[in-house]
Amino acid sequence: MKTKLRHWKHLLVCLTAILPLFCPISLPANPIVQVSFTPETIKQGDVLLITVKTGPEIHGISGTLFDKTIHFYRNPGQDAYTALAGIDLNTDPKRYNLSLSLEDKSSGIIKKDVEIQVVSAHFRTQQLTLPKEKVDLDEETLKRVNLEKEEIDKIWDISTAGPLWDGNFIKPVEGVIDDNFGFRRVINGEPRSPHTGIDIDAPEGTPVYAANQGRVVFTGDQFFSGKGLVIDHGLGLLTMYFHLSEILVTAGEDVRKGQVIARVGKTGRATGPHLHWGIRLNGARVNPASMLGLSLE
Ligand SMILES: [Zn+2]
Repeated sequence: MKTKLRHWKHLLVCLTAILPLFCPISLPANPIVQVSFTPETIKQGDVLLITVKTGPEIHGISGTLFDKTIHFYRNPGQDAYTALAGIDLNTDPKRYNLSLSLEDKSSGIIKKDVEIQVVSAHFRTQQLTLPKEKVDLDEETLKRVNLEKEEIDKIWDISTAGPLWDGNFIKPVEGVIDDNFGFRRVINGEPRSPHTGIDIDAPEGTPVYAANQGRVVFTGDQFFSGKGLVIDHGLGLLTMYFHLSEILVTAGEDVRKGQVIARVGKTGRATGPHLHWGIRLNGARVNPASMLGLSLE
């Protein structure tokens, strides 16, 4: 019944498109394609690993999810393609369509739609008390904060062709992870923006390692995040490191996985020394802890 409905929808789209020859052909049960997801239950804020197993006749895959392009890369020596997709922490918990386009050597483009269900992560609310001057900003500070936001927002649009990472991601600091990702923060009684990373507690001066191979695309000292840096890992995947006491790399520099790039501090708006570690994936704010559980080898 569901399949029939989908066909009707297609037919309607085709009729309205005037050019019926260009309508995609829907193949709901194509035997040459097997699509799998890690994790199987997809929550708000997850990094989603999509694996598409194909026959040798497929020589390329592209996809879209949440109206954004999903970049697939071929697994060496296998008839399989992999992509990482970001489920932003504010994604509505409901069903979404992953549209795949497979390039077949003989029959051209084959379209395949796969449904995914995003469930709620049940983010908690966190009450924080901070000095008034760190929360209620004067005009000059507000101006600075807005300029800094503009500057860093440009970084989230970076999408280098091809992956720069090398295998699995590693935890950037030895220390206890406070999995406070997505917490709805209420500061001095006022609701504020959610916490878009995780905090790792460690003494001031503790080495911070690059979570994977990539290129430094930002270093700076911002009002809220203090001394910080961002690494581009390719395909729209960026890791960020904030509240540092010292930055040991410069923008444009290539870094290896595990290289010491900075030291833990409490610069910016921080209540004590810790690393704020965040990840953007094609603009989506995702939980770095979910990246640590993925096998990219
Ligand atoms: Zn934080």
